[in-house]
Amino acid sequence: MSEQQHLAKAGFETRAIHAGYEPDAATGSVIPPIYATSTYKQDGVGGLRGGYEYSRSANPTRTALEGNIAALEQGERGFAFASGLAAEDTLVRSLCKPGDHVVIPDDAYGGTYRLFDKVEQAWGLEHSPAAVSDVDAVRAAIRPGQTRLVWVETPTNPMLNIGDIEALAAVAHEAGALLVVDNTFASPYLQQPLTLGADVVVHSTTKYCGGHSDVVGGALVVRDLGIADAVAFHQNAIGAVAGPFDSWLTLRGLKTLAVRMDRHCDNAEKVVDFLLDHPRVEQVIYPGLASHPGHELAARQMKRFGGMVSFRVTGGEEAALKVCESTEVFTLGESLGGVESLIEHPGRMTHASVAGTDLEVPADLVRLSVGIETADDLLADLDRALG
Ligand SMILES: *Cc1c(COP(=O)(O)O)cnc(C)c1O
Repeated sequence: MSEQQHLAKAGFETRAIHAGYEPDAATGSVIPPIYATSTYKQDGVGGLRGGYEYSRSANPTRTALEGNIAALEQGERGFAFASGLAAEDTLVRSLCKPGDHVVIPDDAYGGTYRLFDKVEQAWGLEHSPAAVSDVDAVRAAIRPGQTRLVWVETPTNPMLNIGDIEALAAVAHEAGALLVVDNTFASPYLQQPLTLGADVVVHSTTKYCGGHSDVVGGALVVRDLGIADAVAFHQNAIGAVAGPFDSWLTLRGLKTLAVRMDRHCDNAEKVVDFLLDHPRVEQVIYPGLASHPGHELAARQMKRFGGMVSFRVTGGEEAALKVCESTEVFTLGESLGGVESLIEHPGRMTHASVAGTDLEVPADLVRLSVGIETADDLLADLDRALG
């Protein structure tokens, strides 16, 4: 058995640190170098030393990242892209053709919704929204013979709804469709959709996988080799690949994913407890709360409940905006999943584009990406901002 085959049976943290790369034979380099090269010297025409010929097709730093994330998701192959949306677009081109239909979450990440609504639709791909927490609604949205993909996020953003991956996979497969799970919010540490029946996992590695708010990237992981071939062809044919430096940063992030996620979850739980007791907080939304409608499901399919917390402030939109603008440790900003805590107002920021539609979020809603700073400092900051 090779070292990499042994790793298939190893624990998550061991895979995170060792999968995808073996110390370089020539130098012993423990970490893959940033292979800043576009091309590779051939030993005679077609004589490729390491299988590499041009860095859009493959680059050793990217290969290391792709092997690592595939091992973390317990998939057969991984693919790294320039962004989460680049990964999504490549997946759609790989598996769909004009005239096909896709079911998407009715509260999809805004960029995902825009991709389907403005880009894929113009190419001829139809889409219908359905609530991921309602298996019957997803089944009803499927068009037998035309639906190619059922696309879900769980937890969703910013209401943190939970979809039953096992049940949704069964519903998709019954109709001859594939289940795609955007696993960005949970990360592979908390949830591994391929082991629950999903066919493809999508990541914005910009978020928890990279984890340090210093790189934009995306990934796909699949378990079927036929799907892998289609994705590999389109990754090269379209060319929206992750560059070597971005791949190196993301791989560096993945090595500490487990310890970071545990601290994100610890801190989120403390923030939730604090908010529940605060007189200026009307409602706390977190899948770890027994009052959350998806709590039991989340407890079944996730290791813990994640670092994202949403809450509603008494006093409406003005009060919520004031809280967002008053914190000092929590930085006002979009995105999520980095070591630093972020605060934002979905109604005016990440979800401004869905105002006036069915997807509109409450005006008094505040979303937190709870970081890994000292928990007491986070609580004191929120206490000050809530006044
Ligand atoms: C950020 C995000 C994306 C898009 O990823 P980019 O890296 O920004 O292109 C997709 N899905 C979810 C859930 C996200 O949070």
